[in-house]
Amino acid sequence: MRIFLLPVVLLFTACTIANKTEKIDFKSITFENRPKNIIFLIGDGMALSQMSAHVYWHPKSPSIFESFPFIGFHKSYSFDDLVTDSAAGATAFSCGEKTTNAAIGVLPPDNRPCTTILEDLDKSGWATGMVVTCSAPHATPAAFIAHREMRAQTDEIAYDYLHTDLDCFIGGGEEYFDMRADKINLLDTLKKKGYVIRKNLSYNKLPLDGSAPFMMFTDKREPGTASAGRDYLPKATQVACNYLSKRSPKGFFLMVEGSQIDWACHANDRSWLRAEMQDFDETVRKALEFAANDKNTLVVVTGDHECGGLALTKTDAKMEFKSNFVVRMHTAALVPVYAYGPQAQLFSGIYENTAIYYKFREALNWSK
Ligand code: MG
Ligand code: ZN
Repeated sequence: MRIFLLPVVLLFTACTIANKTEKIDFKSITFENRPKNIIFLIGDGMALSQMSAHVYWHPKSPSIFESFPFIGFHKSYSFDDLVTDSAAGATAFSCGEKTTNAAIGVLPPDNRPCTTILEDLDKSGWATGMVVTCSAPHATPAAFIAHREMRAQTDEIAYDYLHTDLDCFIGGGEEYFDMRADKINLLDTLKKKGYVIRKNLSYNKLPLDGSAPFMMFTDKREPGTASAGRDYLPKATQVACNYLSKRSPKGFFLMVEGSQIDWACHANDRSWLRAEMQDFDETVRKALEFAANDKNTLVVVTGDHECGGLALTKTDAKMEFKSNFVVRMHTAALVPVYAYGPQAQLFSGIYENTAIYYKFREALNWSK
């Protein structure tokens, strides 16, 4: 068994500099071990330029991303479009297959459903969870649990949450479950299945000992923005990690999404982007803290695509930059991937977005 000392040393150094007040105690990780748990964090619309802006917005307190020992890039294009949307982007991660834009967990040419890594792990006894800052049927979380031709089929996507025994969900979208066009109250059905349902952020009333599955809705539809004070994602991620680790002895798979980095870039809104990136940074920090203590957790952070064609251009003040957005849509830029924990070395290099799915399977030594 070989221990990769160099990355560990670098990691220690990086963290000592980065977090004078809140230092993560990265213990030596044997990268050749197998992870028990996977925390997969997706910054929607977060590629290299969003990362760059974030890094330079905080020159005196390095970002959490600078702590990762292994970094790669993925090619985000979809089945037939160099510029992906979030539905195809998330399906590439969840199923390991390229699909057409707007498709949720289904593949061309006939929209056949593909089993997602979350569904597969759930069936094999892993605990599974999703924590997001959008509504439950929004494209990214949807692609891990639903199978629909169009991302706009939000009522149908909510219905698909009944088909998988997801152990925990924290995010928006309550009304897609209990204020539906078909008048079916999905929350009643979920309660009958044993779910604890919360309609606000009340952690103390959740089955955090792992005794029951739960859905905690932060909002009726889409959650507010980080720039307007929404701040639940870091704590919710920490709570979900601790809960899921008690939920199954086999391990857990948790998908966390900083959903609104993308929305800020569509809006070409610099201060919104800055707030969302800071929120996501704090969230990644919570995941790393859990993994550093646990030592059996692989943490992978990436985006699904770039958004806004963000460029950091020169201003009169020499150490400041102007954020110039070229478009209000996504672009085809490569997207960085950051990894820490057992098998993190698999994530170095340049590869397809679909490869992330296979790297997860390889990390778990779980062939298909
Ligand atoms: Mg998304
Ligand atoms: Zn978008």
